[in-house]
Amino acid sequence: MSSIPTSPSQLPANQQTPASAQKPLLGMSLPQLQEWVQQQGQPIYRAQQLHQWLYEKGVHSLSDITVFPKSWRAEIADVPVGRSQIFHRSVAPDKTVKYLLQLEDGQIIETVGMPTEKRLTVCVSSQVGCAMACDFCATGKSGFQRHLKIHEIVDQVLTVQADFGRRVSHVVFMGMGEPLLNLEAVLPAVRCLNQDVGIAARSLTISTVGIRGRIRQLAQEKLQATLAVSLHAPNQQLRQELIPSAKHYPLEALMQECREYVQTTKRRLSFEYTLLAEYNDRPEHAAQLARLLRGFQCHVNLIPYNPIPEVAYKRPDQQRIDRFQQALQERHVAVSVRYSRGLEADAACGQLRTRQS
Ligand code: SAH
Repeated sequence: MSSIPTSPSQLPANQQTPASAQKPLLGMSLPQLQEWVQQQGQPIYRAQQLHQWLYEKGVHSLSDITVFPKSWRAEIADVPVGRSQIFHRSVAPDKTVKYLLQLEDGQIIETVGMPTEKRLTVCVSSQVGCAMACDFCATGKSGFQRHLKIHEIVDQVLTVQADFGRRVSHVVFMGMGEPLLNLEAVLPAVRCLNQDVGIAARSLTISTVGIRGRIRQLAQEKLQATLAVSLHAPNQQLRQELIPSAKHYPLEALMQECREYVQTTKRRLSFEYTLLAEYNDRPEHAAQLARLLRGFQCHVNLIPYNPIPEVAYKRPDQQRIDRFQQALQERHVAVSVRYSRGLEADAACGQLRTRQS
């Protein structure tokens, strides 16, 4: 027993952390990589090279970093980078690509790449599955499996970037999961996407159904991203029918936190409102919503519902969508309609699920 070293410093530099126990490198900042290369007994400038190969060239294995000396590459070949495998890829007619990515424990998550001429937006997942169980959302139907780790979030963006062969310009946390329940990974991932991958802070959007106290926390952390709050209903009764967690976190309390967020950060926030035909898209709902948002520095995004087989909600026709939008505009609410991309490939908002049917 006594021959087993008890502290890492008793081990030779290159054996301090067995490769299998090593945290994946993806997600680390330049100073963290500097520390790591120095622990490996390498000169500090190797960290800059490592950073470039991880975040710009997107290597999957350290043995592929050809600027590193061969002997060192052999030593670190098994250190995990933290990249996933593309398990399946499908392309919709509008060129949206949906990926099923396989993680190291075999779990599958969904990521979507949405190209336009000027932008490449990635819709990332923050959890495997989701615990919120919103009544109209496919992800909620398959339950919650686990949180994603930092590298598993960053990897989704790098995977889409490599597959499209062009820079990702925008990232939205609107895939599977509730990002505010996984701030431990989401906040460092946002930092990494901004500072290491190079995506502008304002082009990163975190979407949340609202978790008590967490919007306040984001305001205090001076979140380097845009916040979008999923509202979906203009009153408590309707909202709690759609969103089970709203029973314990009433609309009034949510709106109060949102107001504080705007005051503290001086940033405008977005509200998402999924339009469900006859259910939350009537003229009186628009009038109520305008009243709820009076004097609020915000923008409303209306998302016409994308149907899923499990529930009977319907997508409103164009006339109802236009009327709802107009009713808000007449009341001076800033509003846009977001038509989801990738509808034909089941890649649209709310159609992502863990298991493929
Ligand atoms: N948990 C986060 C991210 C979820 S997905 C949140 O709730 O905001 C991003 C958006 O898609 C949310 O506003 C969500 O309510 C919406 N959405 C979910 N299912 C949908 C569907 N079937 N059609 C249209 N939008 C949907």
